[in-house]
Amino acid sequence: MRPTGALHLGNYLGALANWVEMQDQYDCFFFVADWHALTSDYENTEGLETYVHEILLDWLSAGLSPEKSTLFIQSKIPEHAELYLILSMITPVPWLERNPTYKDQILQLQNKDLSTFGFLGYPVLQAADIIMYKAQGVPVGIDQVPHVEITREIARRFNFLYGPVFPEPEEILTDTPKILGTDRRKMSKSYGNAIYLSDAPEQIRTKVMQMVTDPQRAKRSDPGNPDVCNVYEFHKLYTDAETTNQIDSQCRSAEIGCVECKKIMSENLVQALAPIYEKRKYYEAHPKLVTEIMDQGSLKAREVARSTMQEVRETIKINY
Ligand code: SF4
Repeated sequence: MRPTGALHLGNYLGALANWVEMQDQYDCFFFVADWHALTSDYENTEGLETYVHEILLDWLSAGLSPEKSTLFIQSKIPEHAELYLILSMITPVPWLERNPTYKDQILQLQNKDLSTFGFLGYPVLQAADIIMYKAQGVPVGIDQVPHVEITREIARRFNFLYGPVFPEPEEILTDTPKILGTDRRKMSKSYGNAIYLSDAPEQIRTKVMQMVTDPQRAKRSDPGNPDVCNVYEFHKLYTDAETTNQIDSQCRSAEIGCVECKKIMSENLVQALAPIYEKRKYYEAHPKLVTEIMDQGSLKAREVARSTMQEVRETIKINY
């Protein structure tokens, strides 16, 4: 996960909640991809340290556990840079140029100069991050599948040229609930429409009260349509099924107003996020503990990385 600051509900539901579950099924490695942050934000590294710390607070509060998984920071493992360099020697440039997100991002982020070697090559760094731990699977969203595919191709090419070292990882796709921001656009820090895991109960209540509902429902007496209402999407996740069904019919018959409906939802949301919020307060008060956990995790990851790189150096015969 790239460090871009505190995590919001969209980040949590889209990835982190799933990772927490995966810890009980797999031997997992989760890392803060701080070098990846440089691929598009190389000009401004001012807030990076704070962002890294924020993300760690969110991870630990949401339930990523150093007892179950290896949690680390990418830049603490210089072996990633070494493997990236070696893989970059064998990766054909057209593989990177055809990466669908490459051109897309260049178009979308026109305020940034992304005509850099690092930006073109970031899938190679991702490949190094993944195969360093001989990963069998990578939890990704559908838009990230091409990156796992490039990783497989790079691993295959390495194995073909030098000898079998790396397994070819598969993507692990999971259905994640889609929720929008408070203004019905994609939940995003830059839109100012996000609910954060670090938001206090009062902030959550205020944000929920500002949420855009069914745009056709202008007056309290107008019947609403929960199918197009973002608040209702939240109910589906945070309110019990019976009440949710009730709200559906009461909304359609204008028996319930949006203010009352939002109050019910915000209380359920506050309750659901309370354990994360409380844990976050604890870790915020113990920053040294967070640093220790990450240092330990990084040591653990580095042992694996060292052993992989030893094998890589022997295989490519640069071991003198
Ligand atoms: S009553 Fe609830 S579900 Fe219906 S439009 Fe208002 S907020 Fe949405």
